[in-house]
Amino acid sequence: GSVLFDDVTLRYSADRQPALDGFTLDIEEGEFLVLVGPSGSGKSTALRILAGLERPTSGTVLVDGEDVTRVEPAHRDLAMVFQNYALYPHKSVEDNMSFSLQLAKVPRDEIRRRVSEAAELLELSDLLRRRPRELSGGQRQRVAMGRAIVREPTAFLMDEPLSNLDATLRVQTRSQIAALQKRLGATTVYVTHDQAEAMTLGHRVAVLRDGRLHQVAPPRELYERP
Ligand code: ADP
Ligand code: ADP
Repeated sequence: GSVLFDDVTLRYSADRQPALDGFTLDIEEGEFLVLVGPSGSGKSTALRILAGLERPTSGTVLVDGEDVTRVEPAHRDLAMVFQNYALYPHKSVEDNMSFSLQLAKVPRDEIRRRVSEAAELLELSDLLRRRPRELSGGQRQRVAMGRAIVREPTAFLMDEPLSNLDATLRVQTRSQIAALQKRLGATTVYVTHDQAEAMTLGHRVAVLRDGRLHQVAPPRELYERP
């Protein structure tokens, strides 16, 4: 789906600078958009507003033309992947991946099909019976992505998904995310403070500073401004 942030401002409190300040950004269907910036620049806030977890003080966010604040939680069609994975510790990999589909009353055959396809894409097919604690960090992150993929969401929202991985796994998982996004052609909004990650992954990179959009461009056209 397409995403439009239209002049979005969010103040957590009246006496402080807005966390997000007049933020406008148009994200195309199928685009991999990376939001980059230092800690506190408003990246997570932008993502949380898009996910419907925060309400902007002013401005609107449209997903496929629909105002996200008007969509009921049960009908939200965006899948979020967090840095801490947020897996259910007592459920198997398979159940972690299928749980949201069971809640949504997706037919059992359809659940099985989607889970086995996602497991194959993510090289998790041999791990479906394991529990999260029996997995490496990289495998856990792939389960978290699998859980997002099976929902066939309008867009993937990822908040620093690699930050808990060691350097080697980070590079490896980064390529997997890029390959997966290409294969699925799914709109992805990806938050990181890591410039190298932003430059490698993004079709376009949006740079945030102090809650404002500083610049937005394809990686090779990004330049430093004072
Ligand atoms: P990051 O820098 O990775 O976004 P933070 O440590 O800043 O993570 O924030 C972690 C959580 O704490 C987020 O849910 C964020 O909304 C919340 N948070 C951050 N700053 C504040 C604050 N000043 N007051 C209350 N909650 C905050
Ligand atoms: P980033 O993700 O770039 O680290 P955030 O969006 O988490 O930035 O934070 C932007 C600003 O808003 C920071 O000053 C942070 O302390 C503040 N902030 C974030 N979440 C909250 C919150 N729940 N309550 C109050 N202030 C917050």
